[in-house]
Amino acid sequence: MVASCRCRPTGPGQASPGWRVSGVPGLSNLHSHAFQRALAGRTEFVTGAMAEDNLWTWRREMYRMVDRLTPEAYEAIAALVYLEMLQFGMTAVCEFHYVHHQSGGAAHANPAEMSDRLIAAADRTGLGLTLLPVLYAHGGIDKPVEPTQQRFVHSVDDYLKLIDTLRSRRTGHSTLDVGLALHSLRAVTPDEAKAALAGMAAMDAGARLHIHVSETTHEVAEVKAGLGARPVQWLLDNVGLNDRWCLVHATHLDSSEIAGSAASGAVAGLCPLTEATMGDGFFPLVEYHGAGGAWGIGTDSHYSTSTAEELRILECGKRLELRRRNVIARPEAGREVHTGRVLFDQALAGGEQASGQGGGALVPGRRADLVMLDPPPPPPAPGGRRARCATDGGALLGARPARRCWTAGWRS
Ligand SMILES: [Zn+2]
Repeated sequence: MVASCRCRPTGPGQASPGWRVSGVPGLSNLHSHAFQRALAGRTEFVTGAMAEDNLWTWRREMYRMVDRLTPEAYEAIAALVYLEMLQFGMTAVCEFHYVHHQSGGAAHANPAEMSDRLIAAADRTGLGLTLLPVLYAHGGIDKPVEPTQQRFVHSVDDYLKLIDTLRSRRTGHSTLDVGLALHSLRAVTPDEAKAALAGMAAMDAGARLHIHVSETTHEVAEVKAGLGARPVQWLLDNVGLNDRWCLVHATHLDSSEIAGSAASGAVAGLCPLTEATMGDGFFPLVEYHGAGGAWGIGTDSHYSTSTAEELRILECGKRLELRRRNVIARPEAGREVHTGRVLFDQALAGGEQASGQGGGALVPGRRADLVMLDPPPPPPAPGGRRARCATDGGALLGARPARRCWTAGWRS
C-alpha cells in the first residue's frame, strides 16, 4: 500500500544542482490484459487447419490458456508485467479485466478473487491501478457464450455488485481507482450497456468508461449488421461519448466517426504493437490527430511494455504507409515542432485522461508520479536543439529502461 503524495511548489535553492538525470511525469498505460503476457511469443505459427491466421485464430489460443489460469498465476503474471511497466516509465495502468470466475464458469468463493489478485499485484510493485472489471454477457451479437467464455460472464446485476465491492477496496489503497468496461458491442446488448452505465453513474458519475470498439473489419461488419451502425457511430448516437470514455482499438473509423469521436473528447486507446501482431490494421492517426482527437497508448497483450516501442511503431508505421517523414508534427509559425515531444505529450495526456489517476504532469497539486531517465548520450546540437532532440530520441530511438520511478511520491 502506498500513501498518496502530490507535487508541491519548490522555492529558490530547493533544486539539486548535482543531479545529472532528467525527470519526466510517469505515464499511464491505458490498456492492459496482464495475463496475456504469458502468451506473447507462443502463437507465432500456422497449421494446416487454419484457413487464415488472424485475431480470431489467436483468440482460440488465448482461451486455451485462460482455461488453465489459477488466481495465483494471474497475480504472478500481473506482478511481472507491472514491474516491467515501471521499468519503462509507466506509473499507472488501466487493467481491462475479464477473467472473473473459475475454469468452467463457477464463481469463486470470493466473487472478487481475480480482481483482488490484480490489486495485490499492483500493490506489490507500486504501480497505480485503474481497475476496469469487464461486462461480458454474449459470444457475439445474438450468439450465446461459448464454453471457453464462461469465466468471463456476468449478469448486469452481478457485475454492478462486483464494481460496488471493488470500490470498497479503495480504502487503504490510494492509487486504486475503479471504472467500468464493456467488453464490446458484440458481447453486451444495447439494453445491458445502458443498464450498466446507469448503475455505474449512480455509484460514481465521474468513473472512467472503456470499451473495445473497432479492432477488426469483421467486428465493424458484425456490429453494423446487428445494430444498424458502425461501433463508434452507434456509441455516438446511443450513449453519448465524452471525455470519460476510452475507445480501445479504434482502428477502423470512417470520416464521420473520426470527426464525431474527436469532437466528443473521448480518448482513442491505441495499442500499436498488439494491433500489429494481430494484423488488425492501422489507426487513422494523421486524420484523428488533425481533427484534434485525444489518444493514448496501451500495451494490451504485452509483446512489449515499452511506451517508446509503441510510439515508434505508431509513427514509423505511418511513415512507411504514407511514404513521408514526421507525419504527426505540424509546423507552427516561428518554431520547430518535434515529433518525439508531440508523441510523448499526447501519450501522457491521453493516458492520464483514460486512467483518471491524478498524475500526468509535474505541477503543484497533481500526483507525484515521476520517472528519472538516464542522461541521454550527448547528441549533435545544431542550433541549440539538444533537449528537443533528446525527447525525439527517447520516443523514437528505442526502449531504454528508466533509472527510477516514483508513484504518488513513493519510489517503486
Ligand atoms: Zn483489449
